[in-house]
Amino acid sequence: MKYLFGAEGEAALAALARARALLAFDFDGTLAPIVALPDNARVSLPVAQRLQRLAQRLPVAIISGRRVEDIRARVQFEPHYLIGSHGAEDPQRGVGAELGPTLDGVRGRLTQATAALHALGVLIEDKRESIALHYRLARDRQAALEAIERLLADLGSDVRVFGGKMVANVVPAGAADKADAMLDLAARAGVETALFVGDDLNDEPVFERAPPHWLTVRVGREGPPSHARYFVCSVKEVPLLLDHLLAAMPAGARDAAE
Ligand SMILES: [Mg+2]
Repeated sequence: MKYLFGAEGEAALAALARARALLAFDFDGTLAPIVALPDNARVSLPVAQRLQRLAQRLPVAIISGRRVEDIRARVQFEPHYLIGSHGAEDPQRGVGAELGPTLDGVRGRLTQATAALHALGVLIEDKRESIALHYRLARDRQAALEAIERLLADLGSDVRVFGGKMVANVVPAGAADKADAMLDLAARAGVETALFVGDDLNDEPVFERAPPHWLTVRVGREGPPSHARYFVCSVKEVPLLLDHLLAAMPAGARDAAE
């Protein structure tokens, strides 16, 4: 990964702003800082205003692990596309809902273990097309993670379990991931290129499967190795990324957006 704010990365951002491009972003840890309680996460007004201006010229998408209705209430602007549950929930296509019952086996186990998980400080979030078990608030995160792993062991091949930042996620094995969602959106939007910015393990499929001419950016340099081409140091540098795009927009479009 290269630092985005070097000559090469800035040139790539400028070229993207002038192209017919899809601008896609993860939510938590990318557009909104990660907070102790997931319910407190919001896009700040300065970030929302930048995104709104970009959305006047280019299609903007948010692809999150959250439910679509949950994201909508937190972004403070109108994106063209909202995709939830790591790619599995796409209201414009009606995709996702039929996959929910695949997770009923997991729900059964969770019902039996709810009290024990709550006692460990694990937050259970059922998003219909996916289930998240958050352990950020656990007093002993290692003990919480081990309990989650025991609970999710041997679930069979019709569900997929993957980690993230202080979270374990369960999705139906046949559900679209973020890469499926991005490739589908790019085709639907009729774009020639795309930007994708994300910070976590569920963003890696996009980084890995993005066509070589797409611009992929991971928020954060530390952590597991990433297939993203570029990185920014933290969520605090995301507004700067948006400013580069706005500054490079063709003059007419930029004036119209201001
Ligand atoms: Mg994230």
